[in-house]
Amino acid sequence: MERYQAREIQAFIQETERRQGDAAWIVYRAAERRQERITRRQSVDQSYAPVASDRVDVRELRASADTESVALASQEQKIFPAFDHAEFPVSVVPNWGAMRTPAEWDRPFSQISTKEFVPLPSYNLSTLQIPLASLTNPIRAASIPVLTAKLTYSTRYYGAYDLDAGEFSGLHPGIDLKLAFGTSVGAIAGGQVQVVAKDEDGLGLFIIVEHRLESGERIFSVFGHLDTSWVREGEVVRPGQIIGTVGLSGHTTAPHLHLQIDRDDGSQPHQPYWPAFAEASAGKPASIPTPAEASRHTLHPMDFVRLFANK
Ligand SMILES: [Zn+2]
Repeated sequence: MERYQAREIQAFIQETERRQGDAAWIVYRAAERRQERITRRQSVDQSYAPVASDRVDVRELRASADTESVALASQEQKIFPAFDHAEFPVSVVPNWGAMRTPAEWDRPFSQISTKEFVPLPSYNLSTLQIPLASLTNPIRAASIPVLTAKLTYSTRYYGAYDLDAGEFSGLHPGIDLKLAFGTSVGAIAGGQVQVVAKDEDGLGLFIIVEHRLESGERIFSVFGHLDTSWVREGEVVRPGQIIGTVGLSGHTTAPHLHLQIDRDDGSQPHQPYWPAFAEASAGKPASIPTPAEASRHTLHPMDFVRLFANK
């Protein structure tokens, strides 16, 4: 429990047992087992005071969490969860614009204090395309939220890898969110985990969750460059459930979350869409898709979550 102080994890802890197999359950069980150890010792020595070694590493609990949740997962697999609403994968981000040194930027989630986080900035193209130079020479207090937004959305939907780039300037079919290493990542909606896999040259450790919309359409949320996965293939997830943590696995230069939402292309299991590969396999040079072409393969993740946030 001591290792996880994030507010969202704390909120999950209060729900506990029903959520077997997820982060909250594991953290809850770690706290519970620590207390069991202490109670056992105090039953033979009333003066015993808890020490550091009473702590239970939550990673120790992964194996038992997996075993104990198998029965539940196999029950749940029979019922595909209804799609009711969508959530962003994180609710807060480090206040990047207020940080000045590489040492501050490079801290993992656990080393950033609560007061250094701000709510996830809105994805607003007119803000995101303000030239970086005009915000940093010199940096004014009013520029900090804008800088934080620009840095958070480090690569836009079909944008180029350039902080000032707009949408449809590149081949990137999702959004890159600059987040601290170790940040908990939540499912964007209810669904079933279809793939947990590694692609060292591309998305690194990635998770694909299948969702079924009311219309019957199947869509797939793809989370790339993770450090850890907290779910297994076949597991049912609810909106906001922690499925993994931000890392820098695969082809990446800094910790970030790659988030894309694909339409069903019939591949089984689903293969993450990437326009360069699609065109190369069709023998054509990669070209930047038009919005109409893009929408045949993917959905804009930020627009999608906003559309279903309050459903
Ligand atoms: Zn990306």
